[in-house]
Amino acid sequence: MSEKGLDQLEQLRKRLDEINLQILELLSERGRIAQEIGKVKLKSGINRFDPVRERKMLDILAEKNQGPFETSTIQHIFKEIFKASLELQEDDNRKALLVSRKKQKEDTVVDIKGVKIGGSEPVLIAGPCSVESYEQVKAVALNHKRQGLKLLRGGAFKPRTSPYDFQGLGIEGLKILRQIADEFDLAVISEIVSPHDIELAIEYIDVIQIGARNMQNFELLKAAGSVNHPVLLKRGMSATIQEFMFAAEYIVSKGNKQVMLCERGIRTYEKATRNTLDISAIPILKQETHLPVLADVTHATGRLDLLLPTAKAALAAGADGVMVEVHPDPAVALSDANQQMDLGQFNDFLSELQASGLLKAKAR
Ligand code: PEP
Ligand code: MN
Repeated sequence: MSEKGLDQLEQLRKRLDEINLQILELLSERGRIAQEIGKVKLKSGINRFDPVRERKMLDILAEKNQGPFETSTIQHIFKEIFKASLELQEDDNRKALLVSRKKQKEDTVVDIKGVKIGGSEPVLIAGPCSVESYEQVKAVALNHKRQGLKLLRGGAFKPRTSPYDFQGLGIEGLKILRQIADEFDLAVISEIVSPHDIELAIEYIDVIQIGARNMQNFELLKAAGSVNHPVLLKRGMSATIQEFMFAAEYIVSKGNKQVMLCERGIRTYEKATRNTLDISAIPILKQETHLPVLADVTHATGRLDLLLPTAKAALAAGADGVMVEVHPDPAVALSDANQQMDLGQFNDFLSELQASGLLKAKAR
């Protein structure tokens, strides 16, 4: 380029830099006025968003636009400015969720019969997919005692894909869990599917599980939020991390702060595993929220051969615990027969996880 050309380019760029600063100044001034408007609206109880006024401003811009930008382009840019201004009017407190780190810096630690979830030591939650009988759960409980484990899961209300599949023992199942918990000094976790059963459930179980299929059952979330009882909330199979956090917010905003999150795999096009374990969701949830985060590797993978590596990965990624399914005789299990470990496999899994150093040998 000639010297004259270079000189011209520099002059024009200088001019652009000046204009950028003028736009910035004007935008900031506009933002301050929008904040003032927000305060006036708040005082007089007027809704912040005013579509009629926005339409009017867009029409004026269209009328005055002389190019070179297309009117649609100008309107697009201004709509972004309107949106940003509206966000400025929002009270910062309202934007920060109760479950977020912005609201609470320290980790929430949920204490379940003396086992702390979200503290310094990761935990293992294990048990059959479904409660089928007293004897079946007892076999798992005996093994838990031998292994020094304290947290036992088992489904009593089973949200099955087909209405013809085993639906669980219902209240009977919860009673079996309570009996086992009392006899063996264990803490029991079971899924509740109806808001009407929440009050009753807390008489029998130590942790209310809300399953993937019910993550956005808002009435159930509100009911679980209205009791003072630990809740393990599983991620919906097609839920984004943000939707997952909002679901937890439903519970916490009702007053129940004892909420734990559980990543259990999401639906993708991949068929090699039952779901796709979203490993990055674990550190993201740990960063974004103060709640304990667990990973259910049984439902995430649906594959016995992947339980150990995915459990290690989850713990290495910062999970506060892992959930797996174990059944005394998986071949005859009434649900998830193919993905449950038998007791021998479970004990091997446990000792390998402990040998890795990711789970303490005396883990609960
Ligand atoms: C379960 O844990 O028993 C279960 C049904 O899992 P999910 O809700 O994650 O499918
Ligand atoms: Mn299952």
